[in-house]
Amino acid sequence: MSALPAPFRGDVWLEDGDVILVAQNVAFKVFQETLAEHSKLFSDLFSSFQSPTSQVPVLDGCPVVELSDTVPDLTNVLQALYIDPARYFTGTLSFCEISAMLRLGHKYGLVHIENEAVRRLRQCFPDNLEEFVCSSTISAICYREAEDSESNNPPPEFPNSSTTLCAKDSTAVINLARAYKLDFLLPAAFYVHAQQDSTFIIDSHVDGRSETWKLSEEDAKTALEVREDLKFASRRIFQWLYEPPQEGCLDPESCIAARHHTLSQMWHMLDQCDALLDGNRIYQESQGVLCHVCMGAVLEWHEEQRAVTWRALQMKFLQGHTNEELLLSSYMTPSSKY
Ligand SMILES: [Zn+2]
Repeated sequence: MSALPAPFRGDVWLEDGDVILVAQNVAFKVFQETLAEHSKLFSDLFSSFQSPTSQVPVLDGCPVVELSDTVPDLTNVLQALYIDPARYFTGTLSFCEISAMLRLGHKYGLVHIENEAVRRLRQCFPDNLEEFVCSSTISAICYREAEDSESNNPPPEFPNSSTTLCAKDSTAVINLARAYKLDFLLPAAFYVHAQQDSTFIIDSHVDGRSETWKLSEEDAKTALEVREDLKFASRRIFQWLYEPPQEGCLDPESCIAARHHTLSQMWHMLDQCDALLDGNRIYQESQGVLCHVCMGAVLEWHEEQRAVTWRALQMKFLQGHTNEELLLSSYMTPSSKY
């Protein structure tokens, strides 16, 4: 057994620990038992230390294991295991923390940590439309964001999740979904990504830990296609603006005027990509009042077309999955007049 020069001491240092993990010359002292209990890889490694021929280096009387991870990533995973599991399993986490849990959890077979990271990502990018809550799906968030845009404390982008992820993390999320075969994240992640401008879509982005993320050439091409598909879907969703009032309309003159006025006010918005924004946007964006017969038909059309758009996104990314799986997370209703 050989001795090592003393590395810097990391944030996780359990005095009674019996193994030292070293990353980037920073040492972490922890218990073998906890790591071995959750990870077969560590369990096998620690067993090999018992061999009489083992050449494992020693520091502070403990075997030393050199790892190739970064200090912040390893710190997160060791904190989740030893120091503050409550925060990592129930508190609010940043993208970088979730990314570390996914990558190191997968690498070391720490399944519960990997699964927790996946659960957090799924909260933001779910595989069904009803749970997909962000500023480009829920008009209440969209319009509140517009009001709060001057504020220094913007509302969370994914308020139903226990994360601080923002729309700009979509580049990294798409890469993680590809790398770890989390295909179910892709429809929602590409939808969020397509809300950005085309330069952002293809550019590289640096996360809070200086890691650079960029879409593959193929995914960048796909994202630009999705953007065009969504613009088309937005125009389809507002097709009613060009059409005569609904059969049974209570006030055709006023309902025709409301359509014309709305079209004249929002024609420039028909080129946007937020085709999954819910029907409450009609109340925000309509100029003039539609009678309740027309409003009912417009809202019904809107919900049908949202479902069609979502299903098309799922079909694009989840080919090879069964129709039953797709139908579970989407739905189709018979077409109405619009
Ligand atoms: Zn009407």
